[in-house]
Amino acid sequence: MRFPLALTAKIAKHIIKHKVLRTPKFALVLQLEPLHTCNLTCTGCGRIREYSTSLKDMMSLEDCLESATECDAPMVSICGGEPLIYPKIEELVNGILAQGRIVYICTNGMFMRKKMRDYLASIYAPEVEPKLAKLLEEKLITDKEAGEIRKGHKDNRAVIKPSKWQYWNVHIDGLEYTHDLIVEREGVFQECVLAVKMAKLLGYQVATNTTVYKETDVKELEQMFEFFSSLEVDGHTISPGYEYDAAKKDMVKRLHKQPEDFFLTRKMTREKFAKIEEWGERFTIFGTTVYQEFLAGKRELTCTAWAIPTRNVKGWKAPCYLMTDGHYPHYQEMLAKVDWNKYGVVDGVARDPRCENCMVHCGYDPSGALGTNYQPGDTWKNIKYNFSPKPKPYSAGARVDAFNGVSVGKGHLAEARAAINSPRAAMNGAQSAFSRREEPHTEGGGCGTGDTSQRDDLLGKIAVDKKNQP
Ligand code: SF4
Ligand code: SF4
Repeated sequence: MRFPLALTAKIAKHIIKHKVLRTPKFALVLQLEPLHTCNLTCTGCGRIREYSTSLKDMMSLEDCLESATECDAPMVSICGGEPLIYPKIEELVNGILAQGRIVYICTNGMFMRKKMRDYLASIYAPEVEPKLAKLLEEKLITDKEAGEIRKGHKDNRAVIKPSKWQYWNVHIDGLEYTHDLIVEREGVFQECVLAVKMAKLLGYQVATNTTVYKETDVKELEQMFEFFSSLEVDGHTISPGYEYDAAKKDMVKRLHKQPEDFFLTRKMTREKFAKIEEWGERFTIFGTTVYQEFLAGKRELTCTAWAIPTRNVKGWKAPCYLMTDGHYPHYQEMLAKVDWNKYGVVDGVARDPRCENCMVHCGYDPSGALGTNYQPGDTWKNIKYNFSPKPKPYSAGARVDAFNGVSVGKGHLAEARAAINSPRAAMNGAQSAFSRREEPHTEGGGCGTGDTSQRDDLLGKIAVDKKNQP
């Protein structure tokens, strides 16, 4: 079947339980942001911008675990910021798994291989040697790293192990050229590919997580799916980019771009996602068929943002992952106090102007699963999609020209400078990558302003802390 039975059954059981109990609103997925610090400064990321004053703040491990218990979502997506920077990420992942929930670690991929080497060191025994030999052959670890793994861990520190209940969800916004420019750093795509390969070799489950922007080339998206399908990833999350306030302001101020040149309107989203059902046949696209129909413009849905709540250092963020009208200390309090009828788009009319162009998965994917705007046949469609055979890996995807131009050793800087005035480079953020360095820093803030001092300070402290660990 397309998705693992145990996972599908867990989510179905949760929905049925609340339907029987007639619970008016409940959580399906918790978006947990233990911190907002990130090692990257992607163009279009509102997170590091909106919370640029709280980069040094982190949720405690206890708060994180308590949040999952509090909303009781069967699935927890650990995001951020970059969650692998969180000093207790291993304990957090294991704690949520111990609560019987499904875990997605939404990562930019840069620290994944380190975490997997930690896992290998924790289980090191002579029987691991064939695996190390394979990793060395594929150049996924170096001789030095193999030596470190062979030393093993002398303590019982927590590690992130492969589990059928857990996915690495790796941020990939295109092939190498596009991705590295959007994340504003060379070599990131290459590292993500190495991390995905290593994860698959070690038996982890891996998904990719893609945001589609106005200038995203649909053909390139298909090639990206083909390429990652050839690496046998387990699925893909895909969502339209939303023009939320923090990202919009950054775009105007730092990048001197108009948001409408980058983010999608509803009409554009429908055009970009016109083929999503076809993609769903060829690749393991996560989400319901009902949500896919919505993205393709075949039907309307009502936003159910309360079903994918966001918890961060300030509390439960309302009304949704993207918009912030307040933070609440408890999930139930947020459910009770927010006037949910003020948000979303109903019959093509935005109840709140900020919702007008939003079709993101965290607002509308649960609507498909929960039967909001139910139409006859929906349940059958969703069941059929879930239970139909998983699309086979697309081996010809290995021939995709994924490393298409800008990475370490290939003169990223020179190429990007040369391409800087091309419309494609501009849309992908090449301009921003360089104009950012030239701009004087005007106000105290985090990495979203181009000033990385807070982030570097925190990363430095974490590194020292780790070094001092017994
Ligand atoms: S990886 Fe990019 S999109 Fe993700 S939190 Fe960091 S800056 Fe934002
Ligand atoms: S439609 Fe829903 S998810 Fe989208 S911005 Fe509005 S409240 Fe948030």
